[in-house]
Amino acid sequence: MQKRLTLLGSTGSIGDSTLDVVARHPDRFSVYALTAHRNGDKLVEQCLRFSPEVAVVGDAETARVVQQKLRDAGSRIEVTYGPDALVEVAKSGGCDTVVAAIVGAAGLAPSLAAARSGKRILLANKEALVMSGAIFMDAVRDHGAILLPVDSEHNAIFQCLPREAALHGGVSKIILTASGGPFRTREPSTLTDVTPDEACKHPNWSMGRKISVDSATMMNKGLEVIEAHWLFDLPGERIEVLIHPQSVIHSMVSYADGSVLAQLGNPDMRTPIAHALAFPERVDSGVAPLDLAQVASLSFEKPDYARFPCLALALKALAEGGVASAALNAANEVAVEAFLARRIGFMAIADTVDAVLNALPNRRAASLDDVIEADAAARRAATAFIDRLPAVFQRAARTEYTERAIQ
Ligand code: NAD
Ligand code: MG
Repeated sequence: MQKRLTLLGSTGSIGDSTLDVVARHPDRFSVYALTAHRNGDKLVEQCLRFSPEVAVVGDAETARVVQQKLRDAGSRIEVTYGPDALVEVAKSGGCDTVVAAIVGAAGLAPSLAAARSGKRILLANKEALVMSGAIFMDAVRDHGAILLPVDSEHNAIFQCLPREAALHGGVSKIILTASGGPFRTREPSTLTDVTPDEACKHPNWSMGRKISVDSATMMNKGLEVIEAHWLFDLPGERIEVLIHPQSVIHSMVSYADGSVLAQLGNPDMRTPIAHALAFPERVDSGVAPLDLAQVASLSFEKPDYARFPCLALALKALAEGGVASAALNAANEVAVEAFLARRIGFMAIADTVDAVLNALPNRRAASLDDVIEADAAARRAATAFIDRLPAVFQRAARTEYTERAIQ
């Protein structure tokens, strides 16, 4: 049966890769809704090519322009806007599958709505799970949703785990690989001066700017450990981070008998996307076959927490539980945005997250309101911290919180 898709965040990097796979299999997949924030021109192009029923944008003015352009091109696609419209297309009976590819906390409400509507959810938006892990996983279970990881590491682990949950007892740990990003070997004292463009120049993957900066700080891997904790129901101590600069092994599962299963492939998101779209079948993704003779060698090393304090901070937030992960995520989003706008230096991203986690009291994440409140409080605290930074690009002192997290 053909799958009918809502693609949240269709104009982004994951959105592009998803539509590339979808276009290869018109018999298997069709599009119900596409959504973008401000990139109306790209959304119009996508609409004319994939003919969804609904297109969603961020605001009324973008909606007006997109609607006009579609009408001019002879299309009658309905255009809506705003956060409620995202929730509507995520839970609509018009789709059975929701690809959650909005970046950041903005993706939480529609992703959760998809879970509560029992959809098949292809999750790229890791921030949603980092913020509200227990609530999200409960919604998936209670409403019979199917959650398929698109993040390459989690998709790899999903592929390496036994199908039947009853056999998960034989799993000793999961090993999340990380490329180490563009600054793996750069002299740490020079990191204060890196530019947004340098931080976004990932050695192996082409991605949106926020996740590219997260990869450079390794906050991305920290968020992924939290994501893995919720997806696979394992404590942080059984999730190991391993630097693997070639990004050929996308992650591994280690078993009680000493076996280690790995999933390999070229670093191209169309592989995990195609896997999740067609699961449990396999379809062509357009990705070139892996040529191991050309790769020649694979190398591994332990992560350096002093170089990547964001990774240590994320692991600490996971260990603390409660709303700490939501606060970590919100502070990071504010800091990355400030870094991309050249308002703070690269190392001040970790300082901002550190200061926020240090300042805000933790509490239980009993409801979605708790999560949303913690997110808002962390955003306010991060903004205040950044405003107080003495000068642009100045490095603030690390608090004891980070020092403890690194140890
Ligand atoms: P991107 O910046 O390229 O695209 C983001 C998409 O979200 C765009 O369509 C944008 O219009 C939309 N968007 C942004 N802000 C929004 C808002 N406030 N409201 C509604 N829509 C909004 O990002 P990306 O690289 O495609 O990443 C998307 C998600 O997938 C992120 O959570 C990221 O961590 C995750 N992810 C990405 C990759 C990758 O290779 N790009 C890999 C693994 C996971
Ligand atoms: Mg990843």
